[in-house]
Amino acid sequence: MASIEPVAERSLLDLTFASLEGVLVAAGLPAVHARALWRALHHDLAENLSGRADFVPPLRRWLHEAMGPAKAYELAFPTPVADIASADGLTRKFLLRLADGQTVETVLMAYDGRHTACLSTQAGCAMGCVFCATGQMGFVRHLTPGEIVAQVRHVQLAQRVAGKPGLRNLVLMGMGEPLHNYDSVMTALEIITDRRGLNLGPSKITISTVGVVPGILRLAAENQPYQLAVSLHGATEEERSALVPASRRWPLAELMAACRTYFAQTGRRIFFEWTLIAGVNDSVGHAARLADLLAGLDAHVNLIPLNPTGGFSGGPTQQAAAKAFQAVLKQAGFPSTIRQRRGIDVAAGCGQLRAEKSRRSAVTARG
Ligand code: SAH
Ligand code: SF4
Repeated sequence: MASIEPVAERSLLDLTFASLEGVLVAAGLPAVHARALWRALHHDLAENLSGRADFVPPLRRWLHEAMGPAKAYELAFPTPVADIASADGLTRKFLLRLADGQTVETVLMAYDGRHTACLSTQAGCAMGCVFCATGQMGFVRHLTPGEIVAQVRHVQLAQRVAGKPGLRNLVLMGMGEPLHNYDSVMTALEIITDRRGLNLGPSKITISTVGVVPGILRLAAENQPYQLAVSLHGATEEERSALVPASRRWPLAELMAACRTYFAQTGRRIFFEWTLIAGVNDSVGHAARLADLLAGLDAHVNLIPLNPTGGFSGGPTQQAAAKAFQAVLKQAGFPSTIRQRRGIDVAAGCGQLRAEKSRRSAVTARG
């Protein structure tokens, strides 16, 4: 058999179907053997590749060699270090430990009978939004495609074990900024949407961004088939950059121009996210300025009452004020949804479980 490429311990979960075929062909195997391996990994969600009757002997030999002492490829899954269900049973949050010890959060939400997973794309985040627990911890590293795929696998397996339905929707709204890790995110989504495996629908996947303008323009130019959500939180440059420091790098005017280009090129509705912070950005005046900013766009606004975090003193907007905000948007022709702060008892806000765990272990280490 031809020798194995000297790739240092790359996860099999990093590979798209086409690259898996390429790897097998380079090793002297027919491309067709990729099918059984892909099925095992992404359809059957196998945790172990040995002893599978559907693998022909040359494929078994290749796996043995590639994952043996040569260590060209590995198949390590993240280890759950916390698995917490909310009191209402509608949210389940996993804290997953990656091979290098970093931890990321993956959340399963089961509202309205639709099962949605919220995925992390980075350990930490470089964008520093002041109210966000992930932003408060700073950037650690990008996740690999396999580490993003593994989160979907983990949730699907948990659902399977619990006898519950599989995932229908994905939102990239966990820890990290997906468009700061563009290539790995796109590779992961290609794997996740592959019909031969996990088979999630591209239109059921939402990429949420803080407003990384080059990433938005790239999504448009490549006509990527996913939904786009843009986190605004402020409708003037001054108000926005006080909450979202990344706005200094990609100013609001440039961001809105990129959104208009995205809409012109894809014809796709854009979701805008607005974290409602009492007395900061939740008045009817703020709502009117937001409506002016969105004029002419096919936009849907997601209003998210703040989940309080340790590093930010703001509080969540009360329901009545959120409704008044929503009424102004409606009057201007923009549909909106007020997201319920469910799952707060499991620290379901972005980055909060990891932050809480590290606080607790710091206390334990001291005490
Ligand atoms: N980095 C991306 C995606 C992850 S954050 C982004 O910023 O869009 C997903 C959403 O959760 C964003 O809209 C973000 O502003 C919001 N969010 C973060 N921390 C929050 C908190 N403490 N309370 C309410 N919403 C929060
Ligand atoms: Fe990063 Fe999004 Fe949190 Fe901002 S809100 S710090 S972009 S994860």
